[in-house]
Amino acid sequence: MSWLRRGTSEPGAEGRGSEAGPAARPSGAGEAAPAVLRVDWPACQGRGVCAEVLPELVTLDEWGYPIIRGEVDDNLLDLARQAAADCPHRALRLVR
Ligand code: SF4
Repeated sequence: MSWLRRGTSEPGAEGRGSEAGPAARPSGAGEAAPAVLRVDWPACQGRGVCAEVLPELVTLDEWGYPIIRGEVDDNLLDLARQAAADCPHRALRLVR
């Protein structure tokens, strides 16, 4: 199924780049404002597809509605885009 995870990152990979410091960051990479996932609450039906696609950033509350934890690191951008694309109610957007 298309919503299954692809190319997952290993745990702890979100710190990529921090060991080498900002001077070692490739030019042009990661210079934009951090991406975040936004939920359109009236549209969200709490089915939890987003949490299945991106468990690194999305958990569900007791009613099945998403709880987004923080910004989307570069290594999770593809999965965040996939989570937004797979939301059956178009209730999840990736914005900068
Ligand atoms: S996949 Fe969409 S509708 Fe389902 S819980 Fe996530 S944001 Fe809400």
